[in-house]
Amino acid sequence: MNLMYNSTRNAEDRVTASQAILKGLAEDGGLYVPERIPALELPLASLAGMSYQETAYAVMKQFLTDYSEEELKDCIRRAYDDKFDTEEIAPLRKAGEAYYLELFHGATIAFKDMALSILPYLMTTAAKKNHETHEIVILTATSGDTGKAALAGFADVPGTRILVFYPKHGVSPVQELQMVTQKGANTCVVGILGNFDDAQSGVKRLFADKKLGEELREQGFCFSSANSINIGRLVPQIVYYVYAYGRLLKDGKLLAGEPMNVVVPTGNFGNILAAFYTKNMGLPIEKLICASNENKVLFDFFRTGTYDRNREFVLTSSPSMDILISSNLERLIYHASGQNAAVNAALMRELSEAGRYTVTEEMRTRMGDFAGGYATEEQTFAEIRRVYTESGYVLDTHTAVASSVYHNQFAKECGSVPAVIASTASPYKFARSVMTAIHEAKYREMDDFTLIDELQGITGTPIPRAIEEIRSTPVLHDTVIEKDEMEAAVKHFLLS
Ligand SMILES: *Cc1c(COP(=O)(O)O)cnc(C)c1O
Repeated sequence: MNLMYNSTRNAEDRVTASQAILKGLAEDGGLYVPERIPALELPLASLAGMSYQETAYAVMKQFLTDYSEEELKDCIRRAYDDKFDTEEIAPLRKAGEAYYLELFHGATIAFKDMALSILPYLMTTAAKKNHETHEIVILTATSGDTGKAALAGFADVPGTRILVFYPKHGVSPVQELQMVTQKGANTCVVGILGNFDDAQSGVKRLFADKKLGEELREQGFCFSSANSINIGRLVPQIVYYVYAYGRLLKDGKLLAGEPMNVVVPTGNFGNILAAFYTKNMGLPIEKLICASNENKVLFDFFRTGTYDRNREFVLTSSPSMDILISSNLERLIYHASGQNAAVNAALMRELSEAGRYTVTEEMRTRMGDFAGGYATEEQTFAEIRRVYTESGYVLDTHTAVASSVYHNQFAKECGSVPAVIASTASPYKFARSVMTAIHEAKYREMDDFTLIDELQGITGTPIPRAIEEIRSTPVLHDTVIEKDEMEAAVKHFLLS
């Protein structure tokens, strides 16, 4: 029997996994969620001997039940290949008191590659299975890393086009260069004069615009999403938590059944939601530690039960976490309401109308495995310095937020349980912040590419291909628009 998915705002809207992936977002604006979380169907001890690809199959077959074994294995084989610079795909590195799960060994050196390497295959397979003949148009809002990872995944994939909107003044120079140099006749990259929330709300509005949808269908197009609102992004992210547990078993750091904690630098709440699903599959995870930067809307939510986006938006050195509307929290709210679509829909209406909502005590209890923490800019830089000084290991700014939260707020009380910190980007992607954190006076005046060479000098790790590529590649996308011109940009890309 197939595991079905339904909208968080309407339980009657039921689809298969492949249909949910194809659609991206439900028509009522809700997100697709599995009707139940399947159990991991193997003895925990066996994880120790499994490769990343084997783990991926064991996890994904439980969720994506309408894909055949052959289809799924084929998607996995094509996704997790030598695009990654290590056969381990997601190595687990011990430094100091914690384990860093390095999720940045893919094509764009951020953790979005973990899911976006496979999403294009899952999506084109889904199109075939469902006899979708329209060209699939991936509309994506990015806070910096999703954009490039999605572009890399979908570039020149037959039957697809991809359009990425990014906040023109809200991403790092390397992030921007990575996107605007993207090759591929089916790609388009547009900067908007607004922040990530504007880009994300704009994309959601385009999805919800029935008239636009119909108009484009007539022209042979249908929309889908590569953002973590697409369940096809979340399922592949469950894999690496299961894999991390297997590595801890293999290295004798845990016995099967003993718990680990996870610490996740959080923005849109996709990554940590995948950890929550992992726990609900039966993997022994004790605490889900949600780490925020100065945009600490989630920290306040877990502390008070009130989600309130009415606050100043702060640009930080961890731009992929500069988010005030964490889309995937809606999925947690839905689960915490006892799968009550009406309750969830009402809260989401409050969020869009008043910018805030408060959950009940009962719902808070159901979210009791989550603990929030946050790091200021100063704490983030201090953490990069501390870890480098104490162990020679260099963290990127996002990972440093999580590491700081763990070190300062949880390590003492939770030290007996191994902590796995999701290491979400390579330090090479944020070389300026990382190097000035380590030695402000020495590095302040150097340009970005000199800093990259200096970083190589202190880490001894080779400069990733993703960085070498952008040194000399020409800019191919230079469109910048006002935030209310997104619809026009879509039409221009598809119809002209
Ligand atoms: C996207 C991103 C995050 C935030 O992940 P969410 O799933 O949106 O919570 C953290 N760090 C990096 C480097 C990212 O690219």
